[in-house]
Amino acid sequence: MKKSLALHWKILIGILFGLLFGLMAKNLQLNEFVIDWIKPFGTIFINMLKMIAVPLIVVSLIVGLADLKDISKLSRLGGRTVVFYLFTTVFAVSLGLFLANIIEPGSYINQEARESLLSNFSGDASQKIEMAQKAKESGPLQPLVDIVPENIFSALSDNASMLQVIFFVILIGIGLILIEEEKAKPVVAFFKGMNDVILKIIDLMMLFSPYGVFALMAALMVEIPGFSTLGALGIYGLTVLLGLLIMTFLFYPALLMLFAKVNPIQFLKAIAPAQLLAFSTSSSAATLPVTMECVTERLGVDEEVSSFVLPLGATVNMDGTSLYQAVAALFIAQAMLPYPLDFATQLMIVITATLASIGSAAVPSAGMVMLVIVLGQAGIPEAGLALIFAIDRPLDMCRTVVNITSDATVATIVAKSVGKLNNQNI
Ligand code: ASP
Repeated sequence: MKKSLALHWKILIGILFGLLFGLMAKNLQLNEFVIDWIKPFGTIFINMLKMIAVPLIVVSLIVGLADLKDISKLSRLGGRTVVFYLFTTVFAVSLGLFLANIIEPGSYINQEARESLLSNFSGDASQKIEMAQKAKESGPLQPLVDIVPENIFSALSDNASMLQVIFFVILIGIGLILIEEEKAKPVVAFFKGMNDVILKIIDLMMLFSPYGVFALMAALMVEIPGFSTLGALGIYGLTVLLGLLIMTFLFYPALLMLFAKVNPIQFLKAIAPAQLLAFSTSSSAATLPVTMECVTERLGVDEEVSSFVLPLGATVNMDGTSLYQAVAALFIAQAMLPYPLDFATQLMIVITATLASIGSAAVPSAGMVMLVIVLGQAGIPEAGLALIFAIDRPLDMCRTVVNITSDATVATIVAKSVGKLNNQNI
């Protein structure tokens, strides 16, 4: 416990020093130095996390499922997980809509700011819109089709196909439950051993984390575009932030107290390393190994539950993203449309933002790419993405924190409900 507490302070110090160093380097025109000599260490760190994420999901999910020993237990676990994931996401979108309706961030954008934001729209951003439009062109059942891999090895080698990997591994787990115990035993024993090996590797990688986040933050500071047009986006950014803060400090604590009898302060302390990492990497997938470790070792959620609930959550449960999509959609509508969105359209946004967040990959900027689907359905001009592009990265960092906090909350609640929460740790 003592060791990991020190770790989250170390990561925080890494973040702060990285930001400061980046700011200084930017002022001293040392951008190239940071990009050539510091950023690669951040990239190495993210690569390491991603490298271990897929093996971790495969191994821990197999072990977790095999330990269930019973298909009905699996469906109970699965059912509760899906219900909670959907509930938290729908709540997040509704909260986003509520805040955007009250605060009306779009009304703070004047003609001049709008034009300058639209004209500053970089090539990188239009590429994102193109990607998003491609995502939109596929049929309504495409997301379902995408869950089933055509080739498991290509799914394993592609970070964006996490859901396909989960699908395949669940089948292996079911197979292991259904065959004779004697035959299943050596397979499970092998994966249990591998699981311990992978967890040890993650421990080792975490020793590097303060330096990794330092490099990531320093590079972020020198790469972020100028702040001149950002002022107009301040109210919009603050609306998203307010929503994210309500989720983190009110909504999840309330759920935890109500459904799991867990002290929210202890909970937040336990998952702090994962939250800080989510903030620095903007990727729930890259953060997954650490989320798993925090939830099992520091919160006392049994691996049987965490190994199923967390990888699934990292892929489909994105409350921060869905809240952001709701606020962003309304913001763009307020700034660009001459009429307010009616109730039916806003209800439509609840549905599309829920689906779009489920479909967003757990990587940086994915939420913004999927936003185009929400905009298209609600009849909001897609070019409006250009308005919010400038501050997407900092908001991405914050919404990723909420995404993983939600996963950890649901894992804790589901564990409690099936008697798999070892409360001694908190
Ligand atoms: N970066 C987010 C995540 O990985 C997804 C998003 O762009 O909203 O959780």
